[in-house]
Amino acid sequence: MTARHVTHGQEGLVTRFAPSPTGRLHLGHAYAALQAHDRAAAAGGHFLLRIEDIDGTRSRPEHVAGIIEDLRWLGLDWDGEILFQSARLTAYQAALDTLQAQGLLYRCYCTRAEIAHLSAPHGPGAVYPGTCRHAAPRDDLPHAWRIDMARAAALAGPLDWHDELAGVQRADPLAAGDVVLARKDAPASYHLAVVVDDAFQRVTHIVRGRDLFEATHVHRLLQQLLGLPTPIYRHHPLLRGADGARLAKRTGAPSLASLRAAGMDGRVLADDLRAGRLPIGFTLPNA
Ligand code: GLU
Repeated sequence: MTARHVTHGQEGLVTRFAPSPTGRLHLGHAYAALQAHDRAAAAGGHFLLRIEDIDGTRSRPEHVAGIIEDLRWLGLDWDGEILFQSARLTAYQAALDTLQAQGLLYRCYCTRAEIAHLSAPHGPGAVYPGTCRHAAPRDDLPHAWRIDMARAAALAGPLDWHDELAGVQRADPLAAGDVVLARKDAPASYHLAVVVDDAFQRVTHIVRGRDLFEATHVHRLLQQLLGLPTPIYRHHPLLRGADGARLAKRTGAPSLASLRAAGMDGRVLADDLRAGRLPIGFTLPNA
């Protein structure tokens, strides 16, 4: 064939599944992985796997092996090498340096207990009250790095992002407060690492659960400050148990490993999830 075809598909589309290896995958993860995989497959694009293992205290190599086994059992394959966040620490440091040079970071010396106490009067989910924002720097104390969100938002100006299901969103990073970007015990927080790596892996469409919708306001801001492209988002609804609660390991969501041990066929399960046929006791609300 000599003529080159001009195509108008989305074959350059790239999605990813980015689990943290802190336990075995459950049905909710299976649903999320299928959503990301199928979004790419439908467009003739690429589906990547990233292991978010920067939390050295909770990540376990045996869970990485378990994740790979579980995805294969579902009949899912990914393109290229798996990216491990634990191998990306210099990239996170470079991003921190860029933000630091813009005068947007400050050291936070607060302990977990202090933060719980400081935020308690403002109710659950209250944002960090900025206690260390003007603290004198101390080299003898362990510290996290937080972003001065008001300053960062003012510098970046108004920002939008697009969700394939919810439409255009005006970024509201202030609602998250001065989030941590580098932790005392880990060189990058989830927010920083995810933004740096999605750009590094050239992810064009971020397909993930609705529970991360609010985090995207922060991610959009970080993309702007770091000069990174903004992907398109698709925050899918979350699978829920019979009690209406979202699935989580700690609330007894069955692991894929246990379903396999009970004799379930992973590919059949995958097709059932795709068709919205959920195992008894599970629901998928639209909200
Ligand atoms: N690692 C995150 C998690 O397991 C997901 C990150 C993302 O999809 O942005 O919840």
